[in-house]
Order: sequence, then structure tokens, then C-alpha cells
Amino acid sequence: MNTLDINSIREQFPILSRKIYDKYPLVYLDNAATTQKPRLVVESMSEEYYNVNANVHRGVHFLSQQATDLHEAARERVRTFLNARSTSEIVFTRGTTESINLVATSLSRMKGIAGNPEIIVSSLEHHSNIVSWQLAGFRLCVIPMDDDGGLDMEAYRHLFTERTCLVSVTHVSNVLGVETPVSDLVRIAHEHNVPILIDGAQSAPHRTIDVQALDCDFFALSGHKMYGPTGIGVLYGKETWLDRLPPYMGGGEMIKNVSFEHTTFNALPYKFEAGTPDYIATTGLARAIDFIEGIGMDALRAHEEDLTRYAVERLSGIEGMHIYGYNPSTGQMPHGVISFQLGNIHHLDMGTLLDRLGIAVRTGHHCAEPLMHRLGIEGTCRASFALYNTRDEVDRLASAIERIKSMF
Ligand code: PMP
Repeated sequence: MNTLDINSIREQFPILSRKIYDKYPLVYLDNAATTQKPRLVVESMSEEYYNVNANVHRGVHFLSQQATDLHEAARERVRTFLNARSTSEIVFTRGTTESINLVATSLSRMKGIAGNPEIIVSSLEHHSNIVSWQLAGFRLCVIPMDDDGGLDMEAYRHLFTERTCLVSVTHVSNVLGVETPVSDLVRIAHEHNVPILIDGAQSAPHRTIDVQALDCDFFALSGHKMYGPTGIGVLYGKETWLDRLPPYMGGGEMIKNVSFEHTTFNALPYKFEAGTPDYIATTGLARAIDFIEGIGMDALRAHEEDLTRYAVERLSGIEGMHIYGYNPSTGQMPHGVISFQLGNIHHLDMGTLLDRLGIAVRTGHHCAEPLMHRLGIEGTCRASFALYNTRDEVDRLASAIERIKSMF
């Protein structure tokens, strides 16, 4: 039973009352790309700009110290959100993409990484979890999947070689909404003494994350997908791993001492945070976590799963509809995203026509071209849900799709 007061939650997001083309109330179903921001987040940031702003860590003056306190309090807020052991394990980045690039680049520079190093990824990965490794000089070994996105765990076991440096897999697919078997993936990686990175871009906004219980070595997330500001994300890394990895970027704050001959590096997590951080966005991210926890992650998840089930029920009733990642014979349900194809209506036409009715969805390959190739398609139309979406909006999506269908 859903006990959330969605109307009062929606009131905290002014954008949700916009009319699209001055006509249709917005139905925002592009949340897997980015979520909207509640007043609490935006106002905390403007408040900090207006009243506190000063560069962090480097100043003796009042404002700089206050800004530093807010920035470090945000790090502690993220630590509790992920249940990391220490704030030394919380590195602020620009988002999941930068978090993965950080690990890829630093790992490639680590002593002992010799010729032809390999990374194990899955067939479900976002380009950020593919290209970052390629750029850093790693060969990718790919866990195959079945047609519903289920990973072949037997094949996974056979991908490990003496050249395997790391496993990097998504927690939840941004295309299929499939949850990967992370605890098995972690256990098997560790049986081979290989560390594992979890791409949490699509999981952290929707479920409780406990990095200690997951026992992953790295975890990446993006603030903007969880009601937080753009341009801020997190890399969690076990202290033992962050200690071993060389720095990513060079600059201010990441050093202990610098001379023209030799430089020594700062303690964790600052060793990985070169330059002025987006200290206003870290406050915004902390307030986004307050927002989520004020509602309760369990309640949020129950609401979103209810919406997804309802959407699957409504959409699968439309003749010619195919929903990826949904299998009625096994009962497999997607999590939070519905990628669909209706007959031979091109996904771009579908998305464009939905937009004309005020409904925002995403179309295309969703930055997962290898997955598209595996599925033998060029793209899909994707509706993705957040806390503020409603069954009424799902009904509007379903009737808009029916209307579009009748046009073809
Ligand atoms: N991984 C997954 C699974 C994603 O869905 C996304 C964003 N679509 C990313 C990584 C990259 O996130 P960002 O663009 O915020 O860095």
C-alpha cells in the first residue's frame, strides 16, 4: 500500500507544473537520464552562493572555513548514505563517468600492471564503462547475456586470466532495468583476487546502498540522477585500494609538497581531488540525500516499483508492444525503466510524437551501443520513473501511445 503523499512531494519540484508547448502538463519520464531537483536542493545552493561562498580548504578566513565545513559535512553525508567506513573513502568527482575514468586512468598507471591488461565488463554496460577502459589501454572481456539481460555466470567464471585487473559492472541496466547479481559478481571476483567496481548510476537513486555489505572495491554514482545538482558525483573506494592507486589529475589540493624535481601527494581522499572542487554542488548533493532519506528509501522504492509494474501492465496490453527486460513467463520485471518498441514505429518517431503530447521520454541507443547490437536493434524508446511520477502519468503515457499507434 502506497502511503506517500505524492502531491506534496510534487509541489517541491516547480518544473513539474510546467505546461509543455503552453498546452500539455509535463509528464517527465526521462529520470534515468536526469531527475528534476526539489526546492531544498536548489535553495541550499543559492543560499551558499549568496552567503557563504569562498574557496574551500585553502583559506584562514571565516567564509572559507564555513564553506570547507559545509563541503566536508557533505562528504560525511555521502559516507552515511553509502555506509562507507570512512570519509577517506569518499572521493568527489563530476559523476559516474569521471569516477570510472579516474579508476581506469589510475589503475593503468599502477606499478605491476603489465602487458595486455584485461577488464571484465558485462554486455549491459553504458559507454562510460567501456570507453574509459579502452582509452586507458585495457582489453575488455565481456560477460555474455541472454535475451532478457541475464548474465551468464558460468562464462563469467571463465573470463578470469592472470591478466585480469578488475571487474566493472553495472548494478542496474539503464536500458533494460535489469539488476545484475552483484553479490555473486563480487564473490567470484574476490575468489580470483580481483577487485570489482559497481556502476551505481541507476541503482543509488532507487535503493539502499551499503558498500560494506556489497563488499565492492569501488562504487560510482551521479548526483544529478538522484535529485542532486549536475556536475557532482562520487567514487567510493576501499581505503586499501585508493591508497595503492596513483593520483588521477595533478593540481592544487592533491599534493603534500611540490618541487620541480619531486612531488608528494596528499592524504585520502584529497589525493584524487585536484583543483577547486564543486563545493556548492556537494552541499546540493547532501541536501538531495536529506530529501531522499526524509521520504525513506524503502517507501521511494516501493512507489517506483509499483509504478513500473503498473506501466508494464498498461503498456503490455497494447497490441504490438515489446518491452525489453520484461519476461512474463519468468516473471522478470524491469526496475524503474521501461524500454519499449511498438510494432515497426521508429523509436525516434514515437519519442517525438510523445513529446508533442507533453510526455518526455528518451529515444536511441541510450549510450549502450554494444547492448543494442546484442539485442539486434538500433534503439528503443525509454520511459523511466522517479519518486514524483504517478499512475495518472502512466495512464497518459499509455493513451498517448495508443493515439500514436492509430496514426500509423
Ligand atoms: N552508467 C550508467 C548505467 C548510466 O545510466 C549513466 C548515465 N546515463 C552513466 C553511467 C553515466 O553517468 P553520468 O553521465 O552522470 O556520468
